Amino acid sequence: MESFSNFLSVKPLFYGIFTSPKVIGVTILNLLNMVREAGVIGAGGAGFPTHVKLAANAEYILLNAAECEPLLRVDQQLMAMYPDEIIKGLEAAGKLVGARRALIGIKGKHKEVIPLLKDRIAAMKLSSFIEIKELKDIYPAGDEQVLVYELTGRVVPEAGIPIHVGCVVINAETALNIYHALHKQSVTDTYITISGDVPKRLTVKIPVGTPILDVLKLSGVDNFADYAVIDGGPMMGQVLMNLDGYVTKKSKGFIILKKQHYLIKRKMINIDQARRVNRTSCEQCRMCTDLCPRYLLGHNMQPHKIMRVTNYKLDDIEDQKMAYLCCQCNLCDLFSCPIGLYPRLANLYSKNKLAKNNIRYTSNGTNFHARKNRENRLIPSERLIARLGLREFNRPAPMTEAVVAPKVVYIAKSQHLGAPAIPVVSVGEHVSVGKLIGKIPVDSLGAAIHASITGTVVEIADDFIAIRRDDNV
Ligand code: SF4
Ligand code: SF4
Repeated sequence: MESFSNFLSVKPLFYGIFTSPKVIGVTILNLLNMVREAGVIGAGGAGFPTHVKLAANAEYILLNAAECEPLLRVDQQLMAMYPDEIIKGLEAAGKLVGARRALIGIKGKHKEVIPLLKDRIAAMKLSSFIEIKELKDIYPAGDEQVLVYELTGRVVPEAGIPIHVGCVVINAETALNIYHALHKQSVTDTYITISGDVPKRLTVKIPVGTPILDVLKLSGVDNFADYAVIDGGPMMGQVLMNLDGYVTKKSKGFIILKKQHYLIKRKMINIDQARRVNRTSCEQCRMCTDLCPRYLLGHNMQPHKIMRVTNYKLDDIEDQKMAYLCCQCNLCDLFSCPIGLYPRLANLYSKNKLAKNNIRYTSNGTNFHARKNRENRLIPSERLIARLGLREFNRPAPMTEAVVAPKVVYIAKSQHLGAPAIPVVSVGEHVSVGKLIGKIPVDSLGAAIHASITGTVVEIADDFIAIRRDDNV
């Protein structure tokens, strides 16, 4: 998670000219303000407000186009559909942070998108600024710290963030939203892949606030009694306890599987159940540590030690504290442990316990180096997909024009890191698509929210603003 203060560095007040004629001569502060007013946040992940991220000074701007979660197909298709917009959004973000170089991290397997991007970068005369770097098809190639290492050779320090090594990372959909923000379009929609054990797999643009159930029905399934739904990718996404929620700007995918599927059973285990299972049989083989992406980057993340202290109630605080270094990628729970234990959940248990007692991790080092055997321990996505029991569902999910037109949208006040947005509309007020309905509280980290359909505000609750669509729209 990226802290607010890390991004509050001093900016030059003016930064030259962008390739887009519409933003020529606009000051940096104006541009940041446009991104802020458009409500751009990290699309996917924790939803860090982008205007805060772009207020940093960095040497590199990195485009995370790895999309390493199995079955998700958003970023790769957006890059094929909107290469110019994404490149310009990346360029603008790079200029905003004062980067000397922009690097696009995309898996080498995307053989049609890569030449297209290269052609467009050349056509826009941006080759001296933007470079494409091909990534291996491994999990988790899209973890920010793995991406920084793969693209720049730099290791983000323990408990650090990319800006500590001069990098700011945005993903492809965020770059597209930055481009739109600079053309005065707010974030009102998000792109979602619907995949899994369903008749139709697809990717579609959805208004923020749409009921999740409306989206799920695009899969061709109407009755979800026998199904469970993962909100996000199969590795880091959570199983939804009910389907009553609403799409947010961060929504990236829904994986629909039968309730008895292996992955659903694994993901339904809670921390207490995991602790009981973990206690029975950890053989301290170290596989969870030896394959851990953060350990392989040289961090002191050693889940086998956390298993030891939690299983035997040892009071070694130093070993427990390393739980703070876990990025919750889930590789140890779902791939590495040969006997199906839950080291990630042991980390979570330790971290929660320490946080309650206000005990934090303090790193002893500043310079970190990837471990020398890292290259031999990377996990190919194909093997991971097979292990997860998803091979038969690893199919295309093409972008479609399917229209989802909910009668009412429920737009969450808090879709991002930081304080919830404060409503600036009243019940009964008529709003058009893109109108500001919630602003950032004064002096707070947060993001603005906007109407995603044209209609009337019908409810303002503690956590959402509801808008009913006009009958004739
Ligand atoms: S949790 Fe699993 S992988 Fe880790 S040390 Fe124990 S048995 Fe080995
Ligand atoms: S979830 Fe497991 S593999 Fe991933 S960072 Fe945490 S300890 Fe390492």
